[in-house]
Amino acid sequence: LVVLGSGFAGYSLLRALPRDLFDLTLISPRNYFLFTPLLPSATIGTVELRSILEPVRRRLRHVQQVEALAQEVDWRHQVLACRSAVSEETFDLPYDLLVIAVGAQVADYGIPGVAEHALTLSDVPDARAIRARVLVQLARAEIPGLSDDEIRRRMTFIICGGGPTGVEVAAEIHDLLTDELRTLYPELASLSRVILVEALDRLLTGFDDALGAYTSRHFAREGIEVRTGTPVERIEADHVVVEGGEEIPCGLAIWAGGNAPVPFVASLGLPLEKGRIRVAPDLSVPEHPGVWALGDCAVTEPPLPATAQVAQRQGKYLAKALRRRTRGLPVDPFEARVSGMMAYIGGGEALAEVGDVQWTGRGAWILWRSAYLTKLVSLPNKVKVLFDWAKAAAFGRDVSRF
Ligand SMILES: Cc1cc2nc3c(=O)[nH]c(=O)nc-3n(C[C@H](O)[C@H](O)[C@H](O)COP(=O)(O)OP(=O)(O)OC[C@H]3O[C@@H](n4cnc5c(N)ncnc54)[C@H](O)[C@@H]3O)c2cc1C
Repeated sequence: LVVLGSGFAGYSLLRALPRDLFDLTLISPRNYFLFTPLLPSATIGTVELRSILEPVRRRLRHVQQVEALAQEVDWRHQVLACRSAVSEETFDLPYDLLVIAVGAQVADYGIPGVAEHALTLSDVPDARAIRARVLVQLARAEIPGLSDDEIRRRMTFIICGGGPTGVEVAAEIHDLLTDELRTLYPELASLSRVILVEALDRLLTGFDDALGAYTSRHFAREGIEVRTGTPVERIEADHVVVEGGEEIPCGLAIWAGGNAPVPFVASLGLPLEKGRIRVAPDLSVPEHPGVWALGDCAVTEPPLPATAQVAQRQGKYLAKALRRRTRGLPVDPFEARVSGMMAYIGGGEALAEVGDVQWTGRGAWILWRSAYLTKLVSLPNKVKVLFDWAKAAAFGRDVSRF
């Protein structure tokens, strides 16, 4: 059984499968599992990146692991063509059973300048790049002789996309600017700006309307400028152009625009729906016996949100289904149960929505932190994140640039 991807879906599947049922191989370019819900916090050092990673080798010792990317599948001969993640070497890998859990990448919707001039956030290198660029902007704003307008431009951070990732990144960067700038860079504090630009007419469309509206009001109170109903037309090196041609000067643009398929999924020749592999209710790929797809790269009927929660549940479900299948027992369809959604909105406040119940503010923030602490996948992760939060609260975030 070959599993592609060590994200929420692939990792939870492998963790839940019994050790002796299959010969297990994991193909993934990452040798770690990444807890993405805390990735926005890592962009400014509220938590450290290594605190939210779990090396898969430590947890999945019974699984053969190859750090590589699957590139193509020869369906007839059941062979995967792969490329090493650390060299140009390629190799073929035969399989009997295949699980595709390769996730998604950030969609740029063909908007010019996103790839060249904006940073995105989906993996560890992205969070490192954002943290480094924010600190570079602080250094660039301190070069002597600049006009106030130029300092303001260098200290303007535009986040494009008002979904959970965009909202959380805006909140985290604003936290850094308010908490650390006031004491460490007091001359820059009044010249910094965080602007959140969203094409639709409200933030957080996956949440209830009231929570989107609460976030806009909270951001206005905190000093984060929100521009809803403002599609981005183009991103340039030092400004973002929005619909109507308005140019908003900035020092850094971050693109948080949604999901697109990874190239491997597009190469498979399978029926896709909005770039995701269409799967049966038991997550199998129709007309390809012994092949399943789950997580962000797959879509069920009705479609489920592309979240960690769904991917993790699908991984656990498939482990159980595979166990039943080997015993010749019938397999029930995957049942989606969404237990709730949360987002950090900055200034020590969060949102939480569980069924019809909603929480906002400090209480929701405590719930948000407690929930993520519980959901982190290992004891070392939990302890490290707890220490990071305590360190950031006691000593401030580390703004060393190296
Ligand atoms: C910044 C951020 C914050 C988020 N916050 C939340 C949140 O708060 N709550 C929530 O529910 N969801 C959140 N999400 C969404 C969540 O991370 C995804 O829905 C979830 O990771 C999907 O799991 P997955 O296993 O399908 O994909 P992933 O977790 O992305 O894993 C995909 C895996 O496949 C590997 N891979 C890619 N291409 C190949 C290939 N060709 N061959 C082999 N392996 C490959 C990748 O390296 C990776 O290991 C967030 C996402 C981001 C980016």
